[in-house]
Amino acid sequence: MLKTTSCGSLRSKDAGRSVTLAGWVHRRRDHGSLIFIDIRDRDGLTQVVFNPEVASGAHSVAESFRSEWVVQVTGEVQARPEGTENPGMATGEVEVLAAEATVLNESLTPPFYVNEETEVDELLRMRYRYLDLRRAGMRDAMILRHRVVKFMRDFLDERGFLEIETPILIKSTPEGARDYLVPSRLYPGNFYALPQSPQQLKQLLMVAGVEKYFQIARCFRDEDLRADRQPEFTQLDLEMSFAEQEDILSLIEQLYTEMIDQLTPEKKLTKPFPRLTYREAMDRYGSDKPDLRYGMELANLNDFARTTDFRVFTSAVENGGVVKGFAAPGLASYSRRQTDALIDFARERGAAGLVTIALQGDSGPLDDLTEDKIRSAASRFLSVEQVAEIGKRTQARIGDMILIVAGPEKTTNAVLGELRHELGRRLELADPDEIALAYVVDFPLFEYDDEREAWDAVHHAFTSPKPGYEQYIESDPGKVLANCYDLIGNGEELGSGSIRVHNRALQERIFKVMGYGEEEIERRFGQLVHAFEYGAPPHGGIAPGIDRLIMMLANRDNIRDVIAFPKTQTGTDPLFGAPGSIDGAQLEELGLRLDSEV
Ligand code: ASP
Repeated sequence: MLKTTSCGSLRSKDAGRSVTLAGWVHRRRDHGSLIFIDIRDRDGLTQVVFNPEVASGAHSVAESFRSEWVVQVTGEVQARPEGTENPGMATGEVEVLAAEATVLNESLTPPFYVNEETEVDELLRMRYRYLDLRRAGMRDAMILRHRVVKFMRDFLDERGFLEIETPILIKSTPEGARDYLVPSRLYPGNFYALPQSPQQLKQLLMVAGVEKYFQIARCFRDEDLRADRQPEFTQLDLEMSFAEQEDILSLIEQLYTEMIDQLTPEKKLTKPFPRLTYREAMDRYGSDKPDLRYGMELANLNDFARTTDFRVFTSAVENGGVVKGFAAPGLASYSRRQTDALIDFARERGAAGLVTIALQGDSGPLDDLTEDKIRSAASRFLSVEQVAEIGKRTQARIGDMILIVAGPEKTTNAVLGELRHELGRRLELADPDEIALAYVVDFPLFEYDDEREAWDAVHHAFTSPKPGYEQYIESDPGKVLANCYDLIGNGEELGSGSIRVHNRALQERIFKVMGYGEEEIERRFGQLVHAFEYGAPPHGGIAPGIDRLIMMLANRDNIRDVIAFPKTQTGTDPLFGAPGSIDGAQLEELGLRLDSEV
């Protein structure tokens, strides 16, 4: 090795040792004739002093050093003179007095500061990703990511799981997104699809007798991109035979609890993970992935709304809808304009309107509510007592604003769920160090897709119905509950799983409700339904996402900051220039011709 010691390791006990360091010039300071260089490698920084009276050769080499040059220095470790120690640096007690110095490679001036965590245009960072990854924040995220994945591997290995790779070139394995396709050269006109997840493959491994499988699996989904989405992402994909829902949930709970306690002990993790049914989550939070770090629970006001003379309320109830609301702490101080913006927020998400009731005055209990404290366009229709009743049910205090939506249940929940999330963010109600993991269970098996006019699987088509619901699959699909569960955390879905169907007849009934004919089932899922006829064991699994987990553990709000070589938000790779065009010969070989319009 061109070095004996890493740049992050020297301490005062090493004083007197002769060491060779190699790394990048992080920072340079000239103090009269002395030159101080911080040398950086992946492990950290060490200060090196070049004194012309001690080593004039090394000193003149160091005079040429520039930022990001790759250098090698040999010298003796010494305690820093009293008063010059740097407690903010792991090696801050010592420095290396250079005896020899060599330039291993020079560097152009980088397009941004590598030695500072300053804000840099993201496109530039991605074009020079190899420099961006040298920066401390990205390096730390990569190290954490490595540790998380290693923890997962060790934990599962100890419990008898086998890590098995599954193919990337495969036939469509749908998870409800569009496939990425790869044209076949040997079979012109035919395509491989990249797996949206290894779902069917891991189920086939269960038929194959593997019993306990996992994989750090790459999944590919051609979806519209969002801040927290990537066209390719990584999951801890896991499947177990002879397991029941509880086995999977407790395995993952134990893994995540031990891992977070060990790797990020500064995080406050909720223990044990609360469990909510899907119904409960929708009723109380309007969302199946609520942020549980704060309250602001929704109250159902239906029975009360019915007794008022307020048409907005009564007609929603008469039409089979709901009236629900919650109290946002301290929001009574919102201006007219800010309140109107909230109403627009609700309308843009499909609500007919938003009833806002500001309870103005110094923060305090509701008991003191008087007419002059109420600011609401609805106050003409509601008495002080009625507002007080709404306040009681939403657990409001003076100083809060109550937000109410009336209308069909689905939209009302969705709008209130988003409002709650938005206000939680704006009011900074969540403790950033808290990780509120929880399970949501008992999802419906199907949901109706109005556009396609057919039933879709809420999770995916391979999910089994809960005992007692199988009989409704054809007659009342919307009523069937599934053996399906989500791991959620801080307002994000972190992973989904289910106990699967493992016999052909039931699997085909589910496909048929989703609108697949015999021929299509055979063509798309033949491999799985045939395998089910050869002694498929009962099985189930889960696949928690790794990127979002790291985001949460590393306090990042951008998924690209925890992936070494991510795509931009518009799906491109500015470093390689992907996606890129291909030349005519390649197209011909693949039997493809481009539409001249393209
Ligand atoms: N394949 C599923 C997904 O990617 C996870 C699972 O059911 O195990 O969401």
